[in-house]
Amino acid sequence: MKGFLTKDYKRRVLVVDDELINRELLGAMLSQTFEIAFASNGEEAMASLEEGDYSLILLDLLMPVMDGFAVIERCQEDERLRRIPIIVMTSEKSAEVRSIRMGAADFITKPYDMPEVILARCERIIEMSEDKSIIRSTERDKVSGLYTRGYFFAYLQRRQPALDARMDALVLNIDRFHMINELYGREKGDRVLSHFGQLIAEALPEIRGIACRSDSDTFFVCCKRQDGYEPMIRQMQERLAEASESRGLHIRAGIYSCDDNAADPESWFSRAKGACDRIRGQYGVLTARYDSEQYARTVYHERLIGDVESAIRNRDFVVYYQPKYNIKSDRPTLTSAEALIRWIHPELGFISPGDFIPLFEQNGLIRQVDDYVWHEAASQIKRWRDQYGVTIPVSVNVSRVDVFDPQLEDKLMDIVESCSLRPDDLMPEITESAYSDSADRLIEVVGSLRKSGFKIEMDDFGSGYSSLNMLTEIPFDVLKIDMQFIRRMLIDDKNLRLVKLVMDIAAFLGVPVVAEGVEEKEQLDALKEMGCDIVQGYYFSPPLPADRFEELIRKEYPRPNSADSAEAHHDVNSEK
Ligand code: C2E
Ligand code: MG
Ligand code: MG
Repeated sequence: MKGFLTKDYKRRVLVVDDELINRELLGAMLSQTFEIAFASNGEEAMASLEEGDYSLILLDLLMPVMDGFAVIERCQEDERLRRIPIIVMTSEKSAEVRSIRMGAADFITKPYDMPEVILARCERIIEMSEDKSIIRSTERDKVSGLYTRGYFFAYLQRRQPALDARMDALVLNIDRFHMINELYGREKGDRVLSHFGQLIAEALPEIRGIACRSDSDTFFVCCKRQDGYEPMIRQMQERLAEASESRGLHIRAGIYSCDDNAADPESWFSRAKGACDRIRGQYGVLTARYDSEQYARTVYHERLIGDVESAIRNRDFVVYYQPKYNIKSDRPTLTSAEALIRWIHPELGFISPGDFIPLFEQNGLIRQVDDYVWHEAASQIKRWRDQYGVTIPVSVNVSRVDVFDPQLEDKLMDIVESCSLRPDDLMPEITESAYSDSADRLIEVVGSLRKSGFKIEMDDFGSGYSSLNMLTEIPFDVLKIDMQFIRRMLIDDKNLRLVKLVMDIAAFLGVPVVAEGVEEKEQLDALKEMGCDIVQGYYFSPPLPADRFEELIRKEYPRPNSADSAEAHHDVNSEK
């Protein structure tokens, strides 16, 4: 800031004194450097201040009509005038202390004896106040008028030891704000943010809080703990919708009660944000409180999402194989397998698919993961074929998300061809509930895959709500009855009758049935009696790593690499 008083721009200084001689003296000292205006009492001074922009006020204290103390007081009450530094001019020591306490920046003692000292003081005070206003401009977010994120956290960090324990951290967000930007343009988007900033600012005095805009449409508030925030948020939502003429606007708030004094302000807000994210898109729900289990889950999920790429690279995903047995004849025969993914995480250990598949379905990562599993399974079939001379068909799970992948068929075909397999060696298992996501798309995809020679297994049959509709609309090759029915079959007669019904329907359609989740001999016997074709479950074997599965192959086909077994091709259809 050195040298800021350049020749081409003179700061304006207001000299307020009732004695002409003093005004003239000061004018002479300062007019080379500043542009000077004069006032002879407080009232005149206030009038000048109303009209113009000043960088400094030199103020006499004892004046008729309105004295200097009253001027300081009036300036302090005004947002704009408060920022103009005041130097008081006095000969009384007690008045100096009082005026500084009231907000004056400095004082000059009368009579004025050393002009250079007075000039230097004026320059220094202006410089300091301009430095401060630069800081002020980085305090404020231009769009919303609230604090910036940086300033907000710096402030909380400084105040944290003194903060009352009963504080709440709130994260406020406008649902689907990007749509406003996309539909109506950024300008309108900025107006909505500015309205929202104003509404938050208006609420702050009552809840005794401070606020900032963190980024885009996310706002942070730290305030005294309130009983509930619903009415406040609801009112904000209504007023924001009205002011911005967007009736579909929804606001949601995540709340964290800052009881944990050890945690720092950043983590209060990351917890509140977790709560806020949880209710995204649930339009009836305006607020959600942080819950520690939920938060731990979110952090865990973020970790898993972040680790997918390295897991694929480092082969931390391992494919297990669960055998399926044909039970038509007296002795059950190994007929095929299902590929089931496991994650052997280098730090988190063994992770079941139930913990990450639904998560990856939400964000599309499942496509990469499935692609990996399909490749692995296909190469495994080839390896076993090369080694044991038999082709063990393996079914692979195809997520509902994959169904929407326009490349799905090409991908599967490439995989099969790259391992010199036939399409019916790698059987897509598609869960029945994919039908309720998009029946038309599923019908199209299944039809097309079958035309290319793939055999489709309908997984978890009976678990959805569309079973019967689906049966008539989708041409599939194998029906895999949902595990829940098998589990309850011998406890509850209704389930037993349902299983029978599914068998009858399958017989009518001419497709084999796989019963999965078979754990007990009684279940196996009952299924056999009903005419079930194939069984998968812990009764025979849990899913196994490839080398353990190999032992089953060796047991089933004891003559490895013999010429007559090389041609053998087993699949669920030929076993029927
Ligand atoms: P799913 O496709 O219905 O697979 C059958 C699940 O039942 C497997 O669970 C299997 O380990 C389990 N299971 C088999 N026999 C028994 C039994 O006798 N008793 C009990 N209690 N369970 C049995 P898993 O491996 O935990 O997989 C769960 C689900 O995760 C799968 O259900 C499938 O929907 C999904 N999944 C697994 N691997 C993949 C994959 O590579 N891609 C996709 N998209 N989903 C996969
Ligand atoms: Mg399956
Ligand atoms: Mg299943």
